Amino acid sequence: MTAERRQRRLIAVGSGKGGVGKSTLTANLAIALARLGHKVGLVDADIYGPSQPVILGNQGKKPIARDEKLVPVESEFGIPVLSMGHLVEPGRALAWRGPMAGNALTQLIDAHWGDVDTLLVDLPPGTGDVQLTMLQRFKPMGAVLVSTPQDLALIDAARAGQLFDQAEVPVIGLVENMAGYVCPHCGELSDPFGRGGVETAAERLELPFLGRIPLDLAIREGSDRGQPPACGTGALAAPFHDIAAKVDA
Ligand code: ADP
Repeated sequence: MTAERRQRRLIAVGSGKGGVGKSTLTANLAIALARLGHKVGLVDADIYGPSQPVILGNQGKKPIARDEKLVPVESEFGIPVLSMGHLVEPGRALAWRGPMAGNALTQLIDAHWGDVDTLLVDLPPGTGDVQLTMLQRFKPMGAVLVSTPQDLALIDAARAGQLFDQAEVPVIGLVENMAGYVCPHCGELSDPFGRGGVETAAERLELPFLGRIPLDLAIREGSDRGQPPACGTGALAAPFHDIAAKVDA
């Protein structure tokens, strides 16, 4: 481990299953932590569906290598990024085993991160060997877990919590995403996936609850446009900034 890497805090963002908003949270957390004065970098280790180049709007840009190490790609939010999506052709499915994924991740983490003091790692979803290898090899200082309020996602999140325990990586806390649907026409809040389940699960697992993000079409649209909500102000950005403050505390 290089001296540079020892000083940098590595924070993993994980989820028990895919599609719960892990990548969305990671990108917005990166922007919100940068607003708090940190120099933040982002590693997109989601080998099954690397989406950070789209969310952060630097799709198509390729990292260059210097002295056999990758140079992260800048995004317009001042967040340098390295993604599995930068290493493979868009749309190509990856079926990697633990060692291969571990080696690719080493390239992304042991890169020229310069003065980055906080490196967020968007982990692949689930609790397999690939994830365990990654956690054991890189020993993040902590992990943020994201889940929807649904029972099944919650069971998976609890399993992911066990994975972090096994790797001896402390869980910083749980985030509830897609909690409450805000109607784009009338602004009324309804609960398609239920609400509050993650907070209850956090209590049961004796883990901190970091906050709740509503299911809001504007979040998906902003992410698809490379304009994550945390780069703005107002109600859409607020939950991400609140969560970042707790992660940073
Ligand atoms: P994961 O990384 O867990 O697979 P993503 O962050 O890629 O999940 O999110 C899956 C999809 O859901 C994306 O289209 C994203 O824009 C959308 N999404 C995530 N969180 C929200 C939310 N709170 N409201 C609306 N759409 C969301």
